[in-house]
Amino acid sequence: MGDRERIAIRINGIVQGVGFRPFIFNLALEHGLTGWVTNDSAGVLIEVEGSGSKLNAFLKDIKLKAPPLAHIVSIKSWSIDPIGDNEFIIRASDRSEKVKTLISPDMALCEDCYREMMDPQDRRYLYPFINCTNCGPRFTIIEEMPYDRLYTTMREFIMCPECQREYDDPKNRRFHAQPNACPVCGPEVWLTDRTGKRVDERSSLDYGLVDEVAATYELCEKVKGDKSIGLLPEWVRPIFQLKTELKKGKIAAVKGLGGYHLVCDALNREAVQNLRKRKYRPDKPLAVMMPNLDVVRRYCQVSSEEEKLLISPVRPIVLLKWKAKGYDGITLEVAPAQSRLGVMLPYTPLHYLLFDESLPVLVMTSGNISGEPIIYDDQEAVERLGDIVDYFLVHNRRIVRPCDDSVQRVDNSPVMIRRSRGYAPIPLRLPAVKEPILACGGEMNNIFALAEKGLVFMSQHIGDLKTKNSLYHYRRMIDEMVKLFEIEPEIVVHDLHPEYISTKFALKKYKDKRLIGVQHHHAHIASCMAEHGLDGQVIGLAFDGTGYGTDGKIWGGEILIASPEKFERWAHLKYLPLPGGDKGVKEPWRIGVAYLLKALPDADWLQELPFWYSLKDEINMLKTIIEKGIKVPETSSMGRLFDAVAAILGIRTRISYEGQAAIELEELAGEELGEPYPFIVEDDSPPFVINPLPIISAIIRDLRAGKKAYKIARRFHGTVVEMALNLCIKIRQELGLQRVVMSGGVFQNRLLSLGLKKCLEGEGFEVFQHCQVPTNDGGLALGQVYVASQCILKKEDTFG
Ligand SMILES: [Zn+2]
Ligand SMILES: [Zn+2]
Ligand SMILES: [Zn+2]
Repeated sequence: MGDRERIAIRINGIVQGVGFRPFIFNLALEHGLTGWVTNDSAGVLIEVEGSGSKLNAFLKDIKLKAPPLAHIVSIKSWSIDPIGDNEFIIRASDRSEKVKTLISPDMALCEDCYREMMDPQDRRYLYPFINCTNCGPRFTIIEEMPYDRLYTTMREFIMCPECQREYDDPKNRRFHAQPNACPVCGPEVWLTDRTGKRVDERSSLDYGLVDEVAATYELCEKVKGDKSIGLLPEWVRPIFQLKTELKKGKIAAVKGLGGYHLVCDALNREAVQNLRKRKYRPDKPLAVMMPNLDVVRRYCQVSSEEEKLLISPVRPIVLLKWKAKGYDGITLEVAPAQSRLGVMLPYTPLHYLLFDESLPVLVMTSGNISGEPIIYDDQEAVERLGDIVDYFLVHNRRIVRPCDDSVQRVDNSPVMIRRSRGYAPIPLRLPAVKEPILACGGEMNNIFALAEKGLVFMSQHIGDLKTKNSLYHYRRMIDEMVKLFEIEPEIVVHDLHPEYISTKFALKKYKDKRLIGVQHHHAHIASCMAEHGLDGQVIGLAFDGTGYGTDGKIWGGEILIASPEKFERWAHLKYLPLPGGDKGVKEPWRIGVAYLLKALPDADWLQELPFWYSLKDEINMLKTIIEKGIKVPETSSMGRLFDAVAAILGIRTRISYEGQAAIELEELAGEELGEPYPFIVEDDSPPFVINPLPIISAIIRDLRAGKKAYKIARRFHGTVVEMALNLCIKIRQELGLQRVVMSGGVFQNRLLSLGLKKCLEGEGFEVFQHCQVPTNDGGLALGQVYVASQCILKKEDTFG
């Protein structure tokens, strides 16, 4: 035993439920080491014994060869006394200790499982719940930690002997795969009508012959000519029955990984129109699912970077350039007035089984009531989606918490639009964080965050908190995550807006904790700084829709000198009365009128803008209100300036979803910036006021001269770029700052953010944009955490 050494190794990160112990087991065998591995409260603990050189090689391999879903945060090792054991074993998890470990997100079906599912000889042939240690549900089925079948919703299914054998065999790729299942012992699907009454006809119906199976994608090659495999397995028949109905134009709610999707044939115009009508969603684009990259390439332009994202185990919705836009089979109703289509590939086995050659593209949109989280409870689905759908495809693997699809797009590199399934709850690193912090986020696109010891756990997408139901989920998710991650917040951060539901919630529920209020746009900029590990002062461009300012007004066109602990408002758009408050947001013509009244008070622009004529009476009423000086909130919002221009160009006078007018204005401009319009920077000392009225006058002049709307849209985008660039140069001259950080909802505008970045870099600035969290309010919580942690560190209470 002489030269034998023994070391203990502690690994933190996402190392449970991702095949880490079998990986260690096999690695130890490979290196001829003895000892044991176990999951415990903090991750994975290992003791190994053998020669020093073998131990070193073993340690190196852990980092090099870790399983695909593992996410190692730290590895520590230290020497202990050898005990001379003669085998390597996997020890059962210890439940007696307090649990504190990271949870894996849900991951898409892996290739090995896909192959098995499509193999007629395999016992899981066409089984919609096939999974292994490298794939399948995690975050959405875990009730408690540690991650063990007993503490997931899979405990309701007792494994059959064959599954149990796989589960117990360290050499099997399903060793300790907690959701392991097969048609004999695992979850099943069935079909119901809109009232929840079961309608599938399992064995009696004569459908689903081999030809139908053969039509399933990629199975074609294998099965063609081989008619010997007989009827479809019983367990997949409800899915094929649903497919027959989808082909007739019916609408279904399909239970997936993190909740229900509303599904219909994207090539069937009537079906999509029906879905829109029943869901009261006239314009907002619907995401689609396609079975594989070949089909995606048929309809969309896809770069290699976009392909990589589409097939990654996260399987986000990726916004892709739509090639023929409504002239290729996919009905225009899927995404009216858009040049991009939100596309994802199947991520559960069940999804794969929904497609075939005559059903190549499915609308796959969250089954929710507008703005609320995706519905995941079977009873609630029937109650709330029953009026929208004809069928429900249900299964009996319970979902513990809802998780919406993530949404991304690729500019130069991937950009996050919604960070949810596949990402949550992977933590982001932020070394500044010490004490436990809860950041409550904003009100729209809410994501909250729990942070401690250098890690920030962003929640999945919660949505807009304005409805009772979302608020209920918000509170529940916070309580749940506090429990799951065992982070009891000592500091609670909220937005400054006194009317935000998240603010009211924080002030009421956590009144005994240390509360820190962070200004909305400061949080935006700090969020982007946190992503890039920046501290010190930066130029912060916060171009946004709505955010509460320290003067009680609505901010949103802000140029800040910001550091994580404080900010100075260096410049902003000139205040404009926002007639009708929130109503003005939904009816951009009101902002248009407010701007026109200031820019051209005497002109009869009502005559010149024919598309406004139907609004004549309302406009005159509004004019009276503004002229009388009746008190209305004032705003410096950049988002509203975009709305005003969209309204003046006749693109949108009313909107049906957030940001619609600005999005359509960008669509109109296409990919080019135009020559800037004039604007004025007023006052000699900060905060400088940027007066955009000359822009409005110039636009009207262009309209009078018969200039095309798309040209005006390009010039307007060029103006905003010029405006930001000018002020950054001015700041650099005065303060010597080089780094520019861009954040806020307006930067979802690709033309603006790419164009501005290019110009700034051309002038020698260092430019930082969001990539891991959204630039909209979905990224706010990260910034709130950063500001709060710095305030505590530097003992400054900015706005608390
Ligand atoms: Zn798998
Ligand atoms: Zn089984
Ligand atoms: Zn915002």
